[in-house]
Amino acid sequence: MSGTIIDGAAIAQALRAEVARETAELIRQGKTQPGLATVLVGDNPASQSYVKSKKKACAEVGIASFGYELPATASQAEVEKLVKELNADPHVNGILVQLPLPRGLDEEGVLSAISIEKDVDGFHPVNIGRLAQKGRDPLFVPCTPAGVIHLLKTVVPSLEGANAVVLGRSNIVGMPVALLLVRENATVTICHSRSKDLPGIVRGADVLVAAVGRAEMVRADWVKPGAVVVDVGINRVDDATRPKGYRLVGDVAFEEVKEVAGAITPVPGGVGPMTIAMLLNNTLRAAKAAG
Ligand code: NDP
Repeated sequence: MSGTIIDGAAIAQALRAEVARETAELIRQGKTQPGLATVLVGDNPASQSYVKSKKKACAEVGIASFGYELPATASQAEVEKLVKELNADPHVNGILVQLPLPRGLDEEGVLSAISIEKDVDGFHPVNIGRLAQKGRDPLFVPCTPAGVIHLLKTVVPSLEGANAVVLGRSNIVGMPVALLLVRENATVTICHSRSKDLPGIVRGADVLVAAVGRAEMVRADWVKPGAVVVDVGINRVDDATRPKGYRLVGDVAFEEVKEVAGAITPVPGGVGPMTIAMLLNNTLRAAKAAG
């Protein structure tokens, strides 16, 4: 019997509707409209497209967005100066610096310049550090990892004591997902490119999060029957039958793994839509905290 398909698109849509409702309520109460500033440095087409989607999503839920663009030649001091101006701007509740930054810029320096109260992407070193510490709470959690946990909880309300395996240890996905799972009291194993016997490790997982960027790497015989599988990967594979000549697949061989898993996210339509929904939610929370 096939596992439950976790409908990330519908879950993200519900979250966005709730953000829209709460935003309208704030404005009705006479509070300032929540605002997100996006900072795009350089002309990377993928980054331009992500920023465009984020601004569109803000407009849909009634959050103001303020777009700032700097040339790829901008200096570290110029980028940090802009960030500091946004820190001081009362109309801006959240600051999103689109990553990756062009070569030559120090990402950690720029992220550190963001006020932690406006760090809606959750990448400020203080927020990440608090995420890793027992008894400390980050003000914001990175959006894709937060989306992963939100999806998991729709099918496993308590992750306490679950054996969780995370494939990938990147700063933006794998590591924060693992830290969040630890905070949920799961027992977590983190795998990476030097790990040995991935199939054997994955077979022990009650919960599997795949974030490696390798098309359909996780096969059905890796997965414990009934496990919950969240697939973060977004990979292009050639497909002459599609108008664009490719299709998107995850890190999990969806068609075969869905026959074994208890629940699974599809790609597209799983984790992907959650990232922007979480960004909107974080911006609303920042606005509420600012009063
Ligand atoms: P990175 O390339 O930064 O990290 C990949 C991680 O996977 C690394 O830790 C790497 O190990 C590990 N890895 C790579 N190959 C293997 C392998 N063969 N076996 C075991 N581990 C391996 O990727 P990201 O974390 O940024 O992204 C991962 C995937 O998630 C991508 O497909 C990306 O497109 C997608 N993504 C989706 C988002 C969304 O849905 N909104 C947002 C962000 C990413 P090591 O550390 O040893 O190099």
